[in-house]
Amino acid sequence: MQDISRAKSAELYEKSKTYFPGGVNSPVRAFKSVYGTPLFIQKGDGPYIWDADGNQFIDFCASWGPLILGHNNAKIREKVTEVMQNGMSFGAPTALENELAELIIKNNRFVEKIRFTSSGTEAVMSAIRLARGYTGRNKIIKFEGCYHGHSDSLLVKAGSGLVTFGETSSAGVPKAFADETIVIGLNDKQAVTEAFAQFKDDVAAVIIEGIPANNGLLLQDKEYVEFLSETCTANGALLIFDEVITGFRVGFEGAAAYYGITPDIVTYGKIIGGGLPVGMYGASNQIMAHISPDGGVYQAGTLSGNPVAMAAGIAALSILSQPNFYEELNAKAQAFVNDLKAYIADKGYELKIFTVGSIFWFAFTNKDIKTAEDIDPASMEKFKIMHRELLNRGIYFGPSGYEVGFVSAAHTSVELDKAKQAIFEALDIVF
Ligand code: PLP
Repeated sequence: MQDISRAKSAELYEKSKTYFPGGVNSPVRAFKSVYGTPLFIQKGDGPYIWDADGNQFIDFCASWGPLILGHNNAKIREKVTEVMQNGMSFGAPTALENELAELIIKNNRFVEKIRFTSSGTEAVMSAIRLARGYTGRNKIIKFEGCYHGHSDSLLVKAGSGLVTFGETSSAGVPKAFADETIVIGLNDKQAVTEAFAQFKDDVAAVIIEGIPANNGLLLQDKEYVEFLSETCTANGALLIFDEVITGFRVGFEGAAAYYGITPDIVTYGKIIGGGLPVGMYGASNQIMAHISPDGGVYQAGTLSGNPVAMAAGIAALSILSQPNFYEELNAKAQAFVNDLKAYIADKGYELKIFTVGSIFWFAFTNKDIKTAEDIDPASMEKFKIMHRELLNRGIYFGPSGYEVGFVSAAHTSVELDKAKQAIFEALDIVF
C-alpha cells in the first residue's frame, strides 16, 4: 500500500526543527522509533484526528490518554467557552476549584484533601516531597519501567543488581539526587524486602504506577500490590499510587479500586483536566495537613487550579461519574480486544495483547510480560512496520511500541470494526 502523503507535515517539521530541539516539545512526538516524519495534527473530532495533509485517522493515542471522551467533546467545549468569557486566570481561588474537587472527593475513597497542579509531573514531584516531609526520610523506591514524569529524582533507571541505586537516565540529573532513588524490578517481592532491609528507616515512600502503562502494559498481580502496601505500612513508609494514566481510566477511582487497596497518596493527571493541563495529588486530611500554608511542605503554582482547565475537568468528570460509564466503555474495549486476540490466535502470530479496562498494548512475543526486562527491544521492529501500515490505513497509534493504546467513549462499532480490519491487514504484513 502506498504511504500517506506527509508533504505538509514534513514542511512543518523542517520549520519546527529550527525552533525546538528535535522539532518537538516532548521527545516521543518526534517519531524517532517509527517510520517517517512526525504528523502535525490539525484537528480532532470524536474518535478522529486529521493531519496537516488532510489525512484522517481513527485515533487510539488520545493525546496519550486524557481524551477518554474522544476529541472536541461538545460538553467540555461548551463549559470551557462559557467560563472563558469571564477571563482566563486570576491567581486567586475560584468556585470552580471547589466544584471539581467536590466531584473528585465525593466519588473517591482514597482522598480526603487534594491539591491541583498543572501537570502529572508536578503532581508526582509534589507527592514525593510530601512523603519525604511527612516521614522525615529521604529515599524512595521506584520500579524499572514505571514513568512518573520528568522531575530529577524520578528520571532514574535500574542498574544491573537486584537492589541498586538508579543511574540517572538523563544528563543534568545530579548523581546525588539519583542516589536517593532506589530502583528495583517489578513483580519481585524479594527486591522490595531487601531494599527495606538495606535502607531500613530511610525509605519515605514506594511509588508505583497504579497499573504500569509506560513501558508496555505491565499488569501486576493483586497479591503483589497488596504486598507492597503491607510492606510500606510495616516499615513506616508511604505507598504512592501514580494514577496519572489509570486514574479515571480503568474506573473513576482508578487502579486503587481495581486492586482493592488504599494507597497513602495518589496522583492524577491527564483525564482529570478533560484535555487541558491539570494534575492533582491527594491523601488523607492527616497527611495533607503537612502541605503549605498550614504545613511545612511547600508547593505552589501560578496557574494551579486555572479556571478554564477546571471547567474542562468539571465537564469531563460530570460525564465519567454517571452510572455505567466505565462498564460500557470497558465492555466495548474488551470486545474489540477479544476480536483481535481471536484473529491472532487463529493465525498463530507471535503476538500478545495485554489489556485492562479501555487500555491495550501489543507485545510482539508469546511470553507473559510483567517487567520491563521481559520486553525484547528487537520486537519493536515489528511495531514499527505495524505503525506504518496502520497509518496508511487511517489508524493512529502513539509513535512508540512501548506506548499503550486507548479506546474512548467516542469510538463506535463503525470505527472499531474499521480499526480491526486494518489491524488484521497490518499484522498479515508484519508476519
Ligand atoms: N505519571 C505517569 C504515570 C505518566 O504516565 C505521566 C505522563 O505520561 C506522568 C506521570 C507525567 O505527567 P505529565 O506528562 O502531565 O507531566
